[in-house]
Amino acid sequence: MPLITTKAMFKKAHEGQFAIGAFNVNNMEIVQGITSAAAELQSPVILQCSAGARKYANHQYLVHLVRAALEVNDIPIALHLDHGPDFATCKSCIDGGFTSVMFDGSHYPFEENIEKTKEVVEYAHAHGVMVEAELGQLAGVEDDVSVDADKAHYTKPEEVVEFVSKTGCDSLAIAIGTSHGAFKFTPEQCTRNPETGVLEPPELRFDILAEIEKQIPGFPIVLHGASSVIPKYVKIINEHGGKLKDAVGIPEDQLRKAAKSAVCKINIDSDLRLAMTAGIREHFDQFPEHFDPRQYLTPARNYIKELVAHKIKNVLGSEGSAAAIMAIA
Ligand SMILES: [Zn+2]
Repeated sequence: MPLITTKAMFKKAHEGQFAIGAFNVNNMEIVQGITSAAAELQSPVILQCSAGARKYANHQYLVHLVRAALEVNDIPIALHLDHGPDFATCKSCIDGGFTSVMFDGSHYPFEENIEKTKEVVEYAHAHGVMVEAELGQLAGVEDDVSVDADKAHYTKPEEVVEFVSKTGCDSLAIAIGTSHGAFKFTPEQCTRNPETGVLEPPELRFDILAEIEKQIPGFPIVLHGASSVIPKYVKIINEHGGKLKDAVGIPEDQLRKAAKSAVCKINIDSDLRLAMTAGIREHFDQFPEHFDPRQYLTPARNYIKELVAHKIKNVLGSEGSAAAIMAIA
């Protein structure tokens, strides 16, 4: 099956009250770990590349790695640009085989965001590619995107109708309290769960999400910065020489709740980084004499697969929906 756009994915996700996982890919082991989990669970998946990933791995390598995954696994896959900073980057991905792009104009004033997003939408739609846009700003750091906590702001529900209708975008990333990176909140912003000892952040603003849903019923909503910073992997990293103090993510029960609403796409990057690092650190601690990359990248890839399977089953709810999406794609 060729790469598909996100259109059929979002339609089925909305009808079935689940979300599609959008996982960031940077190299072969990450692509393999994600897609082998998705294939076993017959789940659709969005593989996304940031500008930083294209800088690191080169556009051609990423596109061909994803195409290879499609030859090996019979599941629906969309290839998406994460946080396209400008028209030129979006255009080069559209011309270079991506089926979906995000244009992130969230840091521009409202009217300018509309103008710039619209330009990308016109070019993308003429080439059969979908566009994700963003309103509101998340705090945190991820690759080239960095926003201070005092500059971050929630999406204003009263702006979404005008934004979506004027830009013609296909999905909308919103800010309701998620955040980029593995250190999403300071310990002072959190409360410590007395049973697990895990720091928990303030609840996502489901009231804003509900208000947005009321304004644009059925329109696909996207959550960025939605890693859970799974304590298991942070613990493995710290037990084997790492120093990740007070890393905090979004609790998975909140993400599960969001996936059942208008949220059709949930972005996961930090959790992949943590799983991969946990596998490598644990391996080197146990086998300091090893120096064959296959020895330490195998457990890293296994942890990625385990993580993605967990997300598909327990957070996204997309297990078993591959056939229905392929039928209408
Ligand atoms: Zn993001």
